[in-house]
Amino acid sequence: MTITQTIPAAFLVDPQSLIEDGTMFIGGKWVPAASGETFEVLNPATQEVLGRVPRGGRADVDAAVAAATAAFAGWRETHPSVRGRLLNKWADLCDEHVRELERLENQEIGRPSFAPNPAATNIRYIAGLADKIQGTSLPTADLDQLALTLRDPFGAIAIIVPWNGPGWAAPKRIVGPLIAGNTVVLKPASEAPLTVLYLAKLAEEAGIPAGVINVVTGSGRDVGEPLVLHPDIKRVSFTGSTKTGTRIAELAASHQIPAILELGGKSANVVYADADLDLAIPHLVRGILDNSGQACVAGSRLLVERSIEQDVIERLKTAFAKVTVGPWYEEPTMGPVINEAQGETVLGYIKAGVEEGATLAYGGSRLTGGKYDLGCYIEPTIFTDVRAGMRIEQEEIFGPVLSVIAFDSEDEAVRIANGTRYGLNSAVFTQDVGKAVRFARRSEAGLVSVNTTMGMGAVGIPAGGFKSSGYGRIASSDSPLEWTQTKAVVFGKTA
Ligand code: NAD
Repeated sequence: MTITQTIPAAFLVDPQSLIEDGTMFIGGKWVPAASGETFEVLNPATQEVLGRVPRGGRADVDAAVAAATAAFAGWRETHPSVRGRLLNKWADLCDEHVRELERLENQEIGRPSFAPNPAATNIRYIAGLADKIQGTSLPTADLDQLALTLRDPFGAIAIIVPWNGPGWAAPKRIVGPLIAGNTVVLKPASEAPLTVLYLAKLAEEAGIPAGVINVVTGSGRDVGEPLVLHPDIKRVSFTGSTKTGTRIAELAASHQIPAILELGGKSANVVYADADLDLAIPHLVRGILDNSGQACVAGSRLLVERSIEQDVIERLKTAFAKVTVGPWYEEPTMGPVINEAQGETVLGYIKAGVEEGATLAYGGSRLTGGKYDLGCYIEPTIFTDVRAGMRIEQEEIFGPVLSVIAFDSEDEAVRIANGTRYGLNSAVFTQDVGKAVRFARRSEAGLVSVNTTMGMGAVGIPAGGFKSSGYGRIASSDSPLEWTQTKAVVFGKTA
C-alpha cells in the first residue's frame, strides 16, 4: 500500500490527470526534452514521486525562445483590450481550478493551504492595465509639428522562479510582461515545476496564443543559464536567492540586458512597548511560520522594546506551543521544509545560534518518529538574547527560526532593522501613529507594514527589495513602465 492510499482523497490531486507526464510547454505544444531525459518531482511530506518532468537543456531553451520570438509579432499587435480579456479568462480558470492548484502546491512544496489563493486576483489586477499603456505628447518648435512617445514591448522575456510559492509567484511575474505585448519563457524550480506547468495548461485553455507563454523545466545550469544568455532574450525577471541573482545579473550584463531581481530577505518586525500585543502576536507567529519560514518576506527578526521583552517572549512561547506540525492533509500550521538539504541548512543555523551565545528558548530540533520520518520537519524555534551581528541575525535561514532582539530606543530599533545587507520587508507594531510614520519613512525595505505583516490584505504591491534584496518592481500599476521601452516619435512640419 502506498502512503497516498491512506490520505483522504479530498487532499489529493493526481498530477497526471492535469498535465501529461514527462512534458513541458513550448510553442503551444506539450513536448518531452530533446534529450528524452526526465527527472522526478517528490512530495516533501511523503517522499512519493508526484510525476516526472523533462530534463530540459540548451536545445529546449533554443526551441522555446524561438517560439516566444515568433509569437511576439502577433501578440504585440493583438489589441490591448483583447490581451487583457485573455488574461482575465486565465484568471477565471485559475479560480475555477483553485482546488487543483492548491493541492498541486500542497503536494509539491509541503505547504498547507492558505486561502484565498492569490493567483487570480494578481492576474486580474495587472490584466486591467493592458489597455491603459500610454505615451506622452511633447512640445514642438512649430505648432504644425507633433512629437510624442510610444511605449514598445521588448520581445521575449526570461522568467526564472523559485520553488517556495509557484502557484502565486509564476502568474504574478508572467502577467506584467504579457499585458505590454511581450512573450515569455519561464523556468520553474526543479523542486516545484508541476504547479507552473498546470498554470500554463490553464493559460492554453484560456486561448492565450501558442508561443506567448512557454515553460522549460530543468536545472539552473542546464536551462536557466542558457536562457539568460540567449541572444534573443530581451529582459530577465529573476526571483530566488541573492547568490543566484548575482550570477543572473552577470550573465544578463554579458549581452547588455537588464535583469529585475527579487532576492532574499532578513526581515525585521519591530514591536514597541505601546503595541497591542493581542493583535501583534498572531501576525508575528504567522510572519515566521508561514510555509515553515520558507518565505522571502519571513519576519525572521523580532525587535522588541526591552520593557516588554519578557512578556512578548512568554506570549510567543504560548502561541508556538499551539502550532501544529505535519503533512498538509492534516491541515497543520506548518509542513516539512522542502528537502533534506534545506533541513540541514536550517539545523546548521540553529547550531550556529547556540554556539554564538544566543539562548534557545523554544524548539530547535528535528521532529522524528512516525509521519515525521517521511519528511524533514523542524520544530518552530525561538532564539532570545540575540545580538545584532550574529549569523542568525544577519543571514537568511529560510526556516521556522525566529531571533528576538531587544532594543531601548527608536533610533536603535531602526538601526538594527536596517542593519543587514537585505531590505525586502519590515513591519512595525505600535499605537502611536507618529512612531509608525517615522519607522515607515526610515525603513530600508521595499515593503513596510504597520500593525500587520507582509502587506497582508493589499493587492498590487510593487514587489521588490532594497539593497541585496534586489532591484526593480513587479506586478504593480507600474508594470506598463517596467515592461515597455520608450520610443520618441517626431513629425516634421507638414508644409
Ligand atoms: P535559487 O536561487 O536556488 O533558485 C531560484 C531559481 O533559479 C530556480 O528556478 C533555480 O533552478 C534557478 N537557478 C539556480 N541556479 C541558476 C543559474 N546558475 N542560472 C539560472 N538559474 C538558476 O532559490 P530557491 O532556493 O529556489 O528559492 C529560495 C530563495 O528565493 C530565497 O533566498 C528567497 O528569499 C528567494 N525568494 C525571493 C522572493 C522575492 O520576491 N524577493 C520570492 C520568493 C523567494
